[in-house]
Amino acid sequence: MKKSIIVSPEDCRNTDWVKKAADAGFDTLALHSGGRRHDLLEALAEFRTPEFRARCTGAGLSLEYEEHAAEAFLPSELRAAHPEYFACGEDGIRQSGERAGWCPSAPGMRERIAAGAEKLARALRPSSHNYYFWGADSKECICRCPECAKFSRADLNVLNANMIAEGVLRADPQARAALLAYTPGTFELPEKVVPHAALFLEFAPFHRHYDVPLTDPSDEVNSRFRADLLKLLTVFPAERVHVLEYWLDVSYFSSWRRPLRKIGCSPEVMRRDLEFYYSLGIRNFATFAVMMNETYSAQFGDEELYACGEALNELL
Ligand SMILES: [Zn+2]
Repeated sequence: MKKSIIVSPEDCRNTDWVKKAADAGFDTLALHSGGRRHDLLEALAEFRTPEFRARCTGAGLSLEYEEHAAEAFLPSELRAAHPEYFACGEDGIRQSGERAGWCPSAPGMRERIAAGAEKLARALRPSSHNYYFWGADSKECICRCPECAKFSRADLNVLNANMIAEGVLRADPQARAALLAYTPGTFELPEKVVPHAALFLEFAPFHRHYDVPLTDPSDEVNSRFRADLLKLLTVFPAERVHVLEYWLDVSYFSSWRRPLRKIGCSPEVMRRDLEFYYSLGIRNFATFAVMMNETYSAQFGDEELYACGEALNELL
């Protein structure tokens, strides 16, 4: 069981999120420092210390990190000497820049990613054994070079996560690693690649509609996500599924820029969604709440935050 709220280091510096997350009824505080390639250890500075972990534990919270880790696994500085390490887009061009992914077919990449995941797991140790080290934050994060194109995006997503699972297990024999589904193709079932036993599916219905529940039969987009989840549950049993939602994600509802806008998801929608997920046997939940800071609270209040915590605690 998990009731997690995900905020950024900046939010944590602005707001006492250890106290606020516990007050609102969450049992896990997770840090997320953004989608662009960056130095995770630098960004998370004071939030990866024993002191911060102890503060979380003292408040009854697990501490986790949900992060795009492409830069930690494959530093941008390798682009000049080894363009072949980087993912190809649909245009056949090796990616560069702040959202470049990696090519799992490149020589030595399996060990490179595993070694990077091991190193990162030693530096960012959650208190739960759940490791959420994701690839580049881009809908083109999955390589389409001729070698990779022999596999579906879903297969490559699993292949990438398998490499990460191998690495984090070296650092923590009890580790479980996330297989994030949130980009096109990654909601399909893998056909050629078997998910590592340490993987759990992290289902993130990015771009679903929030004005109606996921169960609304008249909403085509939500119905597609619902069907995808039911399909994925045939491969990943409910106990191996985490839901990653955007219910409280001020950054999402503000299109990742200021001024901040009010959350576009009502407590009723959150509740109906939760009941649906729960009815499928899913017990692990996280919601982004990035940019839910003092400025937001002063302007829009905390109704949705507390309603979300309350709904989670009624079920779990
Ligand atoms: Zn490739």
